[in-house]
Amino acid sequence: MNDALSRELYARARQRLPGGVNSPVRSFLSVGCAPRFIASAKGSHITDVDGNEMIDYVCSWGPGILGHAHPEVLEKVKAACDAGLTYGAPTEREVEMAELLSVLVPSMEVSRLVSSGTEAVMSAIRVARGFTGRDKILKFQGCYHGHSDGLLVKAGSAALTTNVPDSAGVPADFVKHTLVAQYNDEQSVRACFEAFPDEIAAVIVEPVAANMGVVLPEAGFLRFLREITEKYHALLIFDEVITGFRLALGGAQEYYGVTPDLTTLGKIIGGGMPVGAYGGKAEIMRCVSPDGPVYQAGTLSGNPIATAAGLATLRILQQDRDIYRRLEAKTLRLRDAFLSAGAGIQVDQVGSLMSVFFTDTPVVDYAAAASSDTAAYADYFRFLLERNIYVAPSQFEALFVSDAHTQEDLDRTCEVIKEYFTHGICLSRN
Ligand SMILES: *Cc1c(COP(=O)(O)O)cnc(C)c1O
Repeated sequence: MNDALSRELYARARQRLPGGVNSPVRSFLSVGCAPRFIASAKGSHITDVDGNEMIDYVCSWGPGILGHAHPEVLEKVKAACDAGLTYGAPTEREVEMAELLSVLVPSMEVSRLVSSGTEAVMSAIRVARGFTGRDKILKFQGCYHGHSDGLLVKAGSAALTTNVPDSAGVPADFVKHTLVAQYNDEQSVRACFEAFPDEIAAVIVEPVAANMGVVLPEAGFLRFLREITEKYHALLIFDEVITGFRLALGGAQEYYGVTPDLTTLGKIIGGGMPVGAYGGKAEIMRCVSPDGPVYQAGTLSGNPIATAAGLATLRILQQDRDIYRRLEAKTLRLRDAFLSAGAGIQVDQVGSLMSVFFTDTPVVDYAAAASSDTAAYADYFRFLLERNIYVAPSQFEALFVSDAHTQEDLDRTCEVIKEYFTHGICLSRN
């Protein structure tokens, strides 16, 4: 296995890009090797600049649910390009997208398109505050909602009162209205509402947490959030940037049968292009400018090329309702390979979302996820990479299966997983 050209590019990149990358997890820093620079991708495979063709379980962190370079999506994108790249004026496809969202995710009666998940969440929070006239928001430790200031928060020692920024450059004042509770811990949520009964604008949650590795909501947890937000007249926001169109066509809210007031989308909705969206009840969304007083705008929002890719992707998903069964079946094959081969690991899986944690502790929240042996994960990662299987270069990310993964891909992957857990651990650690 040769990665000379990737290494060369990485050396150049580090001169001119922070850490050599445009998003931190791509750097492979947590798995202790140089990142691969990708030249092309097709179906379930990506090929790096040295010509290594790898089975891809990152899928661009979720958007690639149909596999890379799906012919129908490419065709729509190419046709859209011929009509011009951007106008800064409304287009028919934006209307079609909003109409389709209201059908696929019925709670999104009215929605606004933006260009990333970060932007969608940041805007939804502003709407929740504008609508309720309240300042505080409640999030969960280990849930990621993009990199806007008010959401880069970790729980302090006295979580209710002393939350601290999770990033340099975020003034403590900017996170003083962000409360942090523990995922799957109803009591920690109740405590926040009891302390600030009239001040919490919204609870925001990943309905399946997928940014501390995949962590499932325990039975009744989402329904509890629905009930307590109603009781205190706060809004419930589901951040479905990962779960949207992945767990089901209607996202986690369809899968679990719990309806939020506002939903944020990203990743799959762009079909590989930069798209995000937020939306919800018409009554709430009427607050958004120019209908209402909550300002939010974007030069490239609803971009014609991006919406072409997104619409094509969503329509394929809509027309092929067996796809979610196929995706889950593939994921279960991998899950079973881990469960039969691995010791001292936990596998959290729902639908086509799955993570393998290197810990003995069942992973139900951030503390349990953080108990993982990240050095063991790094070891496993490198073993797979050397055998041309590309999984997330971090313990705290999901493994993504696409519709393009073949039985042959899965056979090979299961074989390597088995090899790692039976022989590889000592081989690569000695
Ligand atoms: C990826 C992600 C975001 C941020 O989306 P970007 O497009 O990277 O800005 C927000 N929330 C969740 C749940 C995500 O997984």
